[in-house]
Amino acid sequence: MLETIEGIVIKNSDYQEKSKILQVFSKEHGLIGILLKGANNYKNNNFALIQPISHAFFNINYYNGLSKCYNGELINSFHSLKNDFSKNIYIFHIFELIYKNLEQHQKNSYLFDILLKIIEIMEKSTDIIQIKLLTIYFELKLLYFIGVFPEISKCVECGSSKHITNFDISKGGFVCEKCIDPRSKIFSVDSLQVLYQLFYQELDNFNYDINDKIISELQLLLREYYNYHLGIKTNSSKYF
Ligand SMILES: [Zn+2]
Repeated sequence: MLETIEGIVIKNSDYQEKSKILQVFSKEHGLIGILLKGANNYKNNNFALIQPISHAFFNINYYNGLSKCYNGELINSFHSLKNDFSKNIYIFHIFELIYKNLEQHQKNSYLFDILLKIIEIMEKSTDIIQIKLLTIYFELKLLYFIGVFPEISKCVECGSSKHITNFDISKGGFVCEKCIDPRSKIFSVDSLQVLYQLFYQELDNFNYDINDKIISELQLLLREYYNYHLGIKTNSSKYF
């Protein structure tokens, strides 16, 4: 059935000589594969549609396998973000996490809205701390939706919410001073507080007053958590 969907291009790959297969994170159907015939040519009308980070409407025949698209309408190309390597590596890291963790055809309009807002903020932002923090924010939301969210409100061992002193990667969350494993990596209490507050923030009034040390600790924590619990490292994260 012919329908119009709204989506963000996560990645593209060549198909035969002139066509492209896109992975699009759509508002209506979640992550889907879309075939665009003849689009792999800069003279083609659909050339702007196939570029990663493009936000567009796609007129498609929706199928359980690969959907087919004939044309579409660009909403925002995010041109300056596409050309700024220092910023877009964070977006490509997020895209890799989406592609590797989300099942195809699982609608999640809340996560779609968060992703779109993050891209919009990042394009305008000149603050690398904000960009890194938004990336961590998305990593947390994604963990929540795929059902491997860490315990960040109480000790994962004894259930106490008092004297939280560390985040234990292998146990999957906060631990209190009684349950701490002395062999585990130590994260500062400041970082644990930021992690908790960050998850419950709204993007519309995104507040932060955070130093480099906390950002580095949280980046490390999320990287190790994704690696331990999901076996995932992204190619982009080595450029952070
Ligand atoms: Zn405990």
